Amino acid sequence: MNMTPHLISLHGGHSGQYCNHARDLLEDIILRYIELGFTKVGITEHVPPMNDNFLFPDEKKANLTAVDIHKRFGNYFNELNALKNKYASKIKIFAGMETETCTGYADHMNKLISTFQPDYIVGSVHHIDDIYFDYSKEDYDRTAGVCGSYDAMYEKYFDLQYEMIKTLKPFIVGHFDLIRIYDEDYKKRLLHPKIKKKIIRNLTLIKSLNLVMDFNLRPLARGEKEPYITSSILKNVKEMGIRVVPGDDSHGVSEAGLHVDKAIEILTAHGFETQWPDPVLLT
Ligand SMILES: [Zn+2]
Ligand SMILES: [Zn+2]
Repeated sequence: MNMTPHLISLHGGHSGQYCNHARDLLEDIILRYIELGFTKVGITEHVPPMNDNFLFPDEKKANLTAVDIHKRFGNYFNELNALKNKYASKIKIFAGMETETCTGYADHMNKLISTFQPDYIVGSVHHIDDIYFDYSKEDYDRTAGVCGSYDAMYEKYFDLQYEMIKTLKPFIVGHFDLIRIYDEDYKKRLLHPKIKKKIIRNLTLIKSLNLVMDFNLRPLARGEKEPYITSSILKNVKEMGIRVVPGDDSHGVSEAGLHVDKAIEILTAHGFETQWPDPVLLT
């Protein structure tokens, strides 16, 4: 039996066709995974915003409305399902979506799930108090200002994440420690007792729901030293017996599959299981 771990990504495949901050055609991204030897991949485009108040700057600049993006999201699933069939002999594609946590998200996500019937969802937090914090350092600091401090922002992030996990039960929990994105002191901050307590609480919930964590490679693509999940948390994850699967969080052909080999190397070194589970819808 060949025990070499298969290349996989269960979070990514954002394309310029269906996401304003990504590049390239969805089909070209799929072809890249095939070229790299992937036999399974999860494609998880961002969900459309609930209303025009939650449009991203690049969407506003393109004069798009929430209604336009909702329509585009329908086209995304249509094309992805067509590509799933077209390339079925070469690669198993899981059609997913990456969620948001803006006010009122539970109803919005449930509607999207029943309308588009994804194979699974990635549960992510990109907003705190309805402000996106990961778009730029300015947005990050603006969010911290509203929260009162970086520490308070981290605490709010992990509280929101806890609620999201309980509400949506996403098969994949996306970039668990994304809140560290523009913080040079993140390693220390993630160990502060108040923050650490919330991290352990969230991991306990993930374990009890038998969810899987995204080993998110986007930081490596940006030239940073380690993926989300940072090493201190990854140790807790291993001790608690939580499953972890690589996610390239690709936003274009050149990022598809990037650093997945490195992720498998790190996970293997930490003693993680590398026979990857197939994602399913749990809600
Ligand atoms: Zn994105
Ligand atoms: Zn994300």
